[in-house]
Amino acid sequence: MGLKKKVLSVSLSSLMALGAVTTVSIPASAVGNGPSAGNGAIQTSILHTYESLVDYLKTQDAKQAAMELEVIGQTVKGRDIYMAKYMSNPSNPTILFLTQQHGNEQLTTEGALEFIKHLGTGKMKGVLDNVNVLIIPMLNADGAMGDVDFSLDDYLADGDRHLTRYNANYVDLNREHDKPTSKMQPEAKALHENVLQKYDIDYLIDLHHQGTLSETEGELVSGSILYPTSSNVKPEVLEGSKKLGSVVYNSIEPTGWGHLGKYDGGSGNNIGRNGIAVSYDISTLLFEMRGMSDHYIKSYAIGQKSNGYLIKQTITTLDATVRAISDGSIDTADTSFWDTLPTQNNRQSEESDE
Ligand SMILES: [Zn+2]
Repeated sequence: MGLKKKVLSVSLSSLMALGAVTTVSIPASAVGNGPSAGNGAIQTSILHTYESLVDYLKTQDAKQAAMELEVIGQTVKGRDIYMAKYMSNPSNPTILFLTQQHGNEQLTTEGALEFIKHLGTGKMKGVLDNVNVLIIPMLNADGAMGDVDFSLDDYLADGDRHLTRYNANYVDLNREHDKPTSKMQPEAKALHENVLQKYDIDYLIDLHHQGTLSETEGELVSGSILYPTSSNVKPEVLEGSKKLGSVVYNSIEPTGWGHLGKYDGGSGNNIGRNGIAVSYDISTLLFEMRGMSDHYIKSYAIGQKSNGYLIKQTITTLDATVRAISDGSIDTADTSFWDTLPTQNNRQSEESDE
């Protein structure tokens, strides 16, 4: 059943690559597709597989002198977990971007890969002299590839695989962050032991996708953001998180296609946003973008139409924060917008992610 659609999508993308089709698939915005965005119209062939992601990273590593590609550990099923590393000077401030703790939230990974390519171009000239950048795309590669020890039969995506939130052992990796590393799942253990404990990291943006129906003031959001809300976070760490959020908000909100709300998240230290801020004094920001790449609930799944803008939202976020840390402007970022940023709510009261 997937075969016909797959053939169509391949020929369409070939035509687009040749420039023969100019009127296809231009979305109005990241939020403009209304409440029926799901409908199972998800085609996984537009997404990187784990294997094509590894090829892509190795190609960029070979091209980019400033980039180092590091394996930080292995998934339950033995896949190497990769981190792209740009470390010009250990004393520079350092930011970590993390994607796909939840395997079915892949557009942030697509954006991160594109940003890695940008880091190797002249557009970023000089920027990397004053900031270190660590990027882990696809922490949960087993979930992303649907290579798990439980059934995904009721998932909606069309294509050659399903993508799921959990790791192969049916564990939510974003509930592991307050455990001793000896008790963590392998993916979380790799993140903690070989990245968070090894590098002197100042900032983290944890990139996720939520359902499609969250809104503020009657308008669907393209994403929502939140700083750590654990009571154990030091005030200066929280302030850094709020500044990080300010840079993100002020890069997305003026674009016309993006609309951000404040995420309504828990205060438990098992969640990365909280636990990583508490354990390592890293200023963290959760960014929940709209729509998942696969799910068994229709309204969670984004479909195709907004994909371009959601990838762009990721690239814009990464680009703006790297530049603001590099030029020091993050230090004076105005955090007062947080006082008036409306907390999102959901049109069907059924969705959450983080
Ligand atoms: Zn998530």
